[in-house]
Amino acid sequence: MLKSITLRMISAPLKQPFYNALGTLTEREAIIIEVKDQNGISGWGEVVAFSSPWYTEETIKTCYYVLKEYLIPALHQELKHPHNLQKIFATVRGHYMAKSGLECAFWDLYSKQQKQPLYKLFGGSREEVEAGVVIASNDVKKALQQIEVYQAEGYKRYKVKVSPHNAIEYISAIRKEYEDLPLMVDANSSFALDNQELFRRLDDFHLMMIEQPLEHDDLLLHSELQKQLKTPICLDESITSFNMAKNAIALQSAKILCVKMGRVGGWSQALAIHNYSMQHDIPLWCGGMIEFGISRAHNLALATLDGFTIPGDISSSSRFWEEDIVEPELTVVNGKVKVSAEIGIGCQINWTVLNKLTNYIETFPLK
Ligand SMILES: [Mg+2]
Repeated sequence: MLKSITLRMISAPLKQPFYNALGTLTEREAIIIEVKDQNGISGWGEVVAFSSPWYTEETIKTCYYVLKEYLIPALHQELKHPHNLQKIFATVRGHYMAKSGLECAFWDLYSKQQKQPLYKLFGGSREEVEAGVVIASNDVKKALQQIEVYQAEGYKRYKVKVSPHNAIEYISAIRKEYEDLPLMVDANSSFALDNQELFRRLDDFHLMMIEQPLEHDDLLLHSELQKQLKTPICLDESITSFNMAKNAIALQSAKILCVKMGRVGGWSQALAIHNYSMQHDIPLWCGGMIEFGISRAHNLALATLDGFTIPGDISSSSRFWEEDIVEPELTVVNGKVKVSAEIGIGCQINWTVLNKLTNYIETFPLK
């Protein structure tokens, strides 16, 4: 039997600004969701929407509103299995990040009730996961310095945030120093199909992939572009649901997909994308949202599944935060993260840090 759901609004400054083609981030808000049962066991989820709608339509405030007014009132004490949430959530169209935060909390609770590590519930088999890192700098020299630091930590994949104005400058400078670095670019939809010269030059840098070059909702244009490129396209922003992933694969809009649990609506949709992509030989990697430790722990569990064959955005907690809200913090050692053998998401709440970052709390008893 379930007892209550608590929503906490938290915020923390990033250790250094995060630059990309869409904007600059210096501060991060999130909603931390705790679902408690009658035995005092808690499951944890995190809403990864940003404060404003620069990346997706949802924001922290729209998520809070939808959780409070629609998703939480639709729940009841007798909810037996997290699988049942999809049907309940179907009464609300979209709002995937709000749904994902809540669904993740239920899966964590369920796996703790079953006394199992979360990743094992889904057939995850890896005991360690290879980690990639994002270079999001406004200066080539700083980007090169960051790569040097992350190389020392052994990261397995380097993603550089670029725009049409700086892509060639950044990538040629990096390739000059690191000929064989597992390197990719993320354009965050800032390129245009008619920029032939840009694509021709990028195609010669033997990149692992070009992530989301064109508009976030245009699968046809990406399909057209992929026909012209040697380099695989990876879709990120376009993959907002299982159906979008299916459509992208059918249209051959990409050869690789980035799965973000929050953007696709949680575990059920992420698993559906995983299984379908495996059937169609589309490699996956797990994307990051500059998140806190709870979301990182769910991502890590997702990345243990067989279809996630490319290192994801699974960097150390210390990449963004002075202190994370979980313990132990997620740590990359020699480019890998060990998956915890503990039940649930495999980490505990660091109450000192969580309380320090909390701006607002509301608890909803379940009837
Ligand atoms: Mg991206």
